[in-house]
Amino acid sequence: MILDVQDIHTYYGESHALQGVSLALEAGETVCLLGRNGAGKSTTLRSIIGLNAPRQGRVLFDGQEITGLSTWRIARRGIGLVPEDRRIFPGLTVRENLEVSAYRRPGSGGVWTADRIFLRYPMLAELADRDGGKLSGGQQQMLAVARSLMSEPRLLLLDEPNEGLAPVIVEQIGELIDELAKTTTILFTDQSVHFALRHAQRAYVLEKGRVVHQATSRELLADAETQRRYLSV
Ligand code: ATP
Repeated sequence: MILDVQDIHTYYGESHALQGVSLALEAGETVCLLGRNGAGKSTTLRSIIGLNAPRQGRVLFDGQEITGLSTWRIARRGIGLVPEDRRIFPGLTVRENLEVSAYRRPGSGGVWTADRIFLRYPMLAELADRDGGKLSGGQQQMLAVARSLMSEPRLLLLDEPNEGLAPVIVEQIGELIDELAKTTTILFTDQSVHFALRHAQRAYVLEKGRVVHQATSRELLADAETQRRYLSV
Protein backbone atom coordinates (compact mmCIF):
# COMPACT_ATOMS: atom_id res chain seq x y z
CA MET A 1 0.00 0.00 0.00
CA ILE A 2 1.52 3.33 -1.00
CA LEU A 3 -0.95 5.58 0.85
CA ASP A 4 -2.88 4.71 3.98
CA VAL A 5 -5.06 7.43 5.49
CA GLN A 6 -6.39 6.26 8.84
CA ASP A 7 -9.37 7.99 10.41
CA ILE A 8 -8.13 11.56 10.06
CA HIS A 9 -9.83 14.55 11.67
CA THR A 10 -8.90 17.96 10.31
CA TYR A 11 -10.08 21.36 11.46
CA TYR A 12 -10.16 24.97 10.26
CA GLY A 13 -10.06 26.73 13.60
CA GLU A 14 -12.96 25.17 15.49
CA SER A 15 -14.66 23.97 12.33
CA HIS A 16 -14.44 20.17 12.15
CA ALA A 17 -13.94 19.73 8.39
CA LEU A 18 -12.84 16.06 8.22
CA GLN A 19 -14.61 13.82 10.69
CA GLY A 20 -12.76 10.54 10.37
CA VAL A 21 -11.67 9.98 6.77
CA SER A 22 -9.97 6.68 5.89
CA LEU A 23 -8.77 5.64 2.47
CA ALA A 24 -5.97 3.60 0.96
CA LEU A 25 -4.25 3.33 -2.40
CA GLU A 26 -2.09 0.55 -3.79
CA ALA A 27 0.90 1.62 -5.86
CA GLY A 28 -0.12 2.12 -9.48
CA GLU A 29 -3.80 2.78 -8.83
CA THR A 30 -5.74 5.81 -10.04
CA VAL A 31 -8.46 6.67 -7.56
CA CYS A 32 -11.02 9.47 -7.49
CA LEU A 33 -12.34 11.32 -4.47
CA LEU A 34 -15.87 12.40 -5.27
CA GLY A 35 -18.30 14.73 -3.54
CA ARG A 36 -20.11 18.02 -3.81
CA ASN A 37 -18.75 21.46 -2.90
CA GLY A 38 -17.64 21.53 0.70
CA ALA A 39 -17.68 17.73 1.13
CA GLY A 40 -14.02 17.74 2.19
CA LYS A 41 -12.15 16.67 -0.96
CA SER A 42 -9.60 19.51 -0.96
CA THR A 43 -9.16 19.23 2.78
CA THR A 44 -8.35 15.53 2.42
CA LEU A 45 -5.61 16.28 -0.13
CA ARG A 46 -4.34 19.17 2.00
CA SER A 47 -4.25 16.89 5.04
CA ILE A 48 -2.23 14.23 3.19
CA ILE A 49 0.41 16.72 2.10
CA GLY A 50 0.48 18.55 5.42
CA LEU A 51 -1.01 21.91 4.45
CA ASN A 52 -3.68 21.26 7.07
CA ALA A 53 -2.26 18.66 9.41
CA PRO A 54 -4.89 16.33 10.88
CA ARG A 55 -5.44 16.71 14.62
CA GLN A 56 -6.29 13.03 14.97
CA GLY A 57 -5.61 9.96 12.88
CA ARG A 58 -2.59 9.01 10.82
CA VAL A 59 -1.31 9.26 7.27
CA LEU A 60 1.18 6.61 6.14
CA PHE A 61 3.14 6.89 2.90
CA ASP A 62 5.00 3.75 1.91
CA GLY A 63 4.36 2.40 5.37
CA GLN A 64 5.97 5.36 7.13
CA GLU A 65 4.01 7.88 9.12
CA ILE A 66 4.03 11.38 7.62
CA THR A 67 1.31 12.94 9.80
CA GLY A 68 2.47 16.29 11.15
CA LEU A 69 5.54 16.57 8.92
CA SER A 70 5.98 19.85 7.09
CA THR A 71 4.68 20.01 3.54
CA TRP A 72 8.12 20.28 1.98
CA ARG A 73 9.32 17.19 3.82
CA ILE A 74 6.27 15.28 2.63
CA ALA A 75 6.80 16.53 -0.92
CA ARG A 76 10.43 15.45 -0.80
CA ARG A 77 9.35 11.93 0.02
CA GLY A 78 7.56 11.83 -3.29
CA ILE A 79 4.05 13.30 -3.04
CA GLY A 80 3.06 16.05 -5.49
CA LEU A 81 -0.02 18.28 -5.29
CA VAL A 82 -1.68 20.26 -8.06
CA PRO A 83 -3.97 22.59 -6.12
CA GLU A 84 -7.37 23.74 -7.30
CA ASP A 85 -6.11 27.23 -8.15
CA ARG A 86 -3.14 25.78 -10.12
CA ARG A 87 -0.66 28.36 -8.79
CA ILE A 88 1.58 28.73 -11.78
CA PHE A 89 3.95 31.70 -11.86
CA PRO A 90 2.30 34.29 -14.12
CA GLY A 91 5.50 36.27 -14.76
CA LEU A 92 7.58 33.24 -15.77
CA THR A 93 7.43 31.57 -19.15
CA VAL A 94 6.11 28.04 -19.54
CA ARG A 95 9.69 26.73 -19.77
CA GLU A 96 10.72 28.69 -16.66
CA ASN A 97 7.66 27.45 -14.77
CA LEU A 98 8.82 23.90 -15.48
CA GLU A 99 12.47 24.54 -14.68
CA VAL A 100 11.88 26.16 -11.30
CA SER A 101 9.94 23.08 -10.27
CA ALA A 102 12.63 20.55 -11.11
CA TYR A 103 13.67 18.75 -8.01
CA ARG A 104 15.53 15.48 -7.97
CA ARG A 105 14.56 13.24 -5.14
CA PRO A 106 17.47 11.22 -3.87
CA GLY A 107 17.22 7.88 -5.64
CA SER A 108 14.87 9.08 -8.36
CA GLY A 109 15.93 8.56 -11.93
CA GLY A 110 15.94 12.22 -12.88
CA VAL A 111 13.78 11.44 -15.86
CA TRP A 112 11.92 14.65 -16.51
CA THR A 113 13.36 17.84 -17.95
CA ALA A 114 11.52 20.70 -19.62
CA ASP A 115 12.64 19.40 -23.01
CA ARG A 116 11.34 15.91 -22.32
CA ILE A 117 8.04 17.36 -21.19
CA PHE A 118 7.88 19.32 -24.46
CA LEU A 119 8.59 16.19 -26.49
CA ARG A 120 5.83 14.34 -24.73
CA TYR A 121 3.36 17.25 -24.73
CA PRO A 122 3.83 19.21 -27.96
CA MET A 123 1.01 21.54 -26.99
CA LEU A 124 3.20 22.88 -24.17
CA ALA A 125 6.24 23.10 -26.46
CA GLU A 126 4.37 25.54 -28.66
CA LEU A 127 3.81 27.69 -25.57
CA ALA A 128 7.36 27.38 -24.19
CA ASP A 129 8.14 31.10 -24.34
CA ARG A 130 4.73 32.40 -23.34
CA ASP A 131 4.21 33.91 -19.90
CA GLY A 132 2.22 31.72 -17.53
CA GLY A 133 -0.19 34.59 -16.95
CA LYS A 134 -1.12 34.68 -20.63
CA LEU A 135 -2.26 31.06 -20.82
CA SER A 136 -5.90 29.97 -21.00
CA GLY A 137 -7.36 28.07 -18.05
CA GLY A 138 -6.85 24.76 -19.82
CA GLN A 139 -3.28 25.56 -20.79
CA GLN A 140 -2.57 26.57 -17.18
CA GLN A 141 -3.95 23.27 -15.96
CA MET A 142 -1.79 21.30 -18.41
CA LEU A 143 1.22 23.29 -17.23
CA ALA A 144 0.36 22.79 -13.56
CA VAL A 145 0.11 19.03 -14.05
CA ALA A 146 3.25 18.84 -16.21
CA ARG A 147 5.09 20.94 -13.66
CA SER A 148 4.22 18.53 -10.89
CA LEU A 149 6.01 15.82 -12.93
CA MET A 150 9.27 17.71 -12.64
CA SER A 151 9.61 16.58 -9.02
CA GLU A 152 8.89 12.99 -10.10
CA PRO A 153 6.22 12.24 -7.54
CA ARG A 154 5.37 8.65 -6.76
CA LEU A 155 1.94 9.82 -5.65
CA LEU A 156 0.24 12.70 -7.45
CA LEU A 157 -2.69 14.54 -5.86
CA LEU A 158 -4.83 16.53 -8.31
CA ASP A 159 -7.50 18.83 -6.90
CA GLU A 160 -10.44 19.19 -9.30
CA PRO A 161 -8.32 19.21 -12.43
CA ASN A 162 -11.39 19.94 -14.57
CA GLU A 163 -12.86 22.82 -12.71
CA GLY A 164 -14.01 25.61 -15.00
CA LEU A 165 -12.60 24.01 -18.15
CA ALA A 166 -14.30 23.54 -21.53
CA PRO A 167 -15.21 19.94 -22.50
CA VAL A 168 -12.48 19.70 -25.15
CA ILE A 169 -9.87 20.68 -22.56
CA VAL A 170 -11.32 18.25 -20.03
CA GLU A 171 -10.74 15.57 -22.65
CA GLN A 172 -7.07 16.57 -22.90
CA ILE A 173 -6.64 16.61 -19.12
CA GLY A 174 -8.16 13.12 -19.09
CA GLU A 175 -5.60 11.94 -21.63
CA LEU A 176 -2.84 13.48 -19.56
CA ILE A 177 -4.05 11.67 -16.43
CA ASP A 178 -4.17 8.36 -18.35
CA GLU A 179 -0.62 8.96 -19.52
CA LEU A 180 0.62 9.83 -16.03
CA ALA A 181 -1.16 6.81 -14.61
CA LYS A 182 1.23 4.56 -16.49
CA THR A 183 4.10 5.66 -14.27
CA THR A 184 2.66 7.03 -11.02
CA THR A 185 -0.12 6.58 -8.49
CA ILE A 186 -2.85 9.22 -8.70
CA LEU A 187 -5.55 10.49 -6.36
CA PHE A 188 -7.73 13.16 -7.97
CA THR A 189 -10.93 14.90 -6.95
CA ASP A 190 -14.04 15.64 -8.94
CA GLN A 191 -17.67 16.52 -8.36
CA SER A 192 -19.39 14.17 -10.76
CA VAL A 193 -18.98 10.53 -11.60
CA HIS A 194 -18.47 10.79 -15.36
CA PHE A 195 -14.83 11.85 -15.53
CA ALA A 196 -13.97 9.59 -12.60
CA LEU A 197 -15.45 6.67 -14.43
CA ARG A 198 -13.30 7.13 -17.45
CA HIS A 199 -10.03 7.74 -15.66
CA ALA A 200 -10.10 6.04 -12.24
CA GLN A 201 -10.50 2.41 -11.31
CA ARG A 202 -12.43 3.20 -8.18
CA ALA A 203 -13.71 6.05 -6.07
CA TYR A 204 -14.46 7.21 -2.57
CA VAL A 205 -17.49 9.43 -2.03
CA LEU A 206 -17.27 12.14 0.62
CA GLU A 207 -20.09 14.02 2.31
CA LYS A 208 -19.75 16.40 5.26
CA GLY A 209 -16.19 15.34 5.97
CA ARG A 210 -16.88 11.60 5.98
CA VAL A 211 -16.45 8.77 3.49
CA VAL A 212 -20.03 7.69 2.83
CA HIS A 213 -19.41 5.24 0.02
CA GLN A 214 -16.66 3.47 -1.88
CA ALA A 215 -16.96 1.44 -5.03
CA THR A 216 -15.37 0.68 -8.36
CA SER A 217 -16.11 3.26 -11.02
CA ARG A 218 -18.24 0.72 -12.84
CA GLU A 219 -20.36 0.05 -9.76
CA LEU A 220 -20.84 3.76 -9.20
CA LEU A 221 -22.02 4.30 -12.74
CA ALA A 222 -24.82 1.82 -12.15
CA ASP A 223 -25.66 3.28 -8.74
CA ALA A 224 -28.12 6.06 -9.49
CA GLU A 225 -29.12 6.38 -5.84
CA THR A 226 -25.59 7.20 -4.61
CA GLN A 227 -25.10 9.60 -7.48
CA ARG A 228 -28.36 11.37 -6.69
CA ARG A 229 -27.65 11.62 -2.97
CA TYR A 230 -24.02 12.67 -2.96
CA LEU A 231 -22.87 13.86 -6.37
CA SER A 232 -23.46 16.58 -8.90
CA VAL A 233 -25.08 15.48 -12.11
P1 ATP B 1 -14.80 22.33 -3.10
O1 ATP B 1 -15.23 21.64 -4.32
O2 ATP B 1 -15.62 23.52 -2.78
O3 ATP B 1 -13.33 22.57 -2.99
P2 ATP B 1 -14.36 20.25 -1.18
O4 ATP B 1 -15.09 18.97 -1.20
O5 ATP B 1 -12.98 20.26 -1.67
O6 ATP B 1 -15.22 21.32 -1.94
P3 ATP B 1 -13.32 21.45 1.19
O7 ATP B 1 -12.81 22.65 0.47
O8 ATP B 1 -12.37 20.43 1.63
O9 ATP B 1 -14.44 20.75 0.32
O10 ATP B 1 -14.18 21.95 2.42
C1 ATP B 1 -14.59 21.11 3.50
C2 ATP B 1 -15.20 21.96 4.60
O11 ATP B 1 -14.20 22.80 5.17
C3 ATP B 1 -16.31 22.89 4.12
O12 ATP B 1 -17.30 22.93 5.10
C4 ATP B 1 -15.62 24.21 3.99
O13 ATP B 1 -16.52 25.27 4.21
C5 ATP B 1 -14.59 24.16 5.09
N1 ATP B 1 -13.40 24.95 4.73
C6 ATP B 1 -12.61 24.80 3.65
N2 ATP B 1 -11.59 25.68 3.64
C7 ATP B 1 -11.75 26.43 4.75
C8 ATP B 1 -11.03 27.52 5.32
N3 ATP B 1 -9.91 28.00 4.76
N4 ATP B 1 -11.50 28.04 6.47
C9 ATP B 1 -12.61 27.55 7.07
N5 ATP B 1 -13.32 26.52 6.59
C10 ATP B 1 -12.91 25.97 5.45
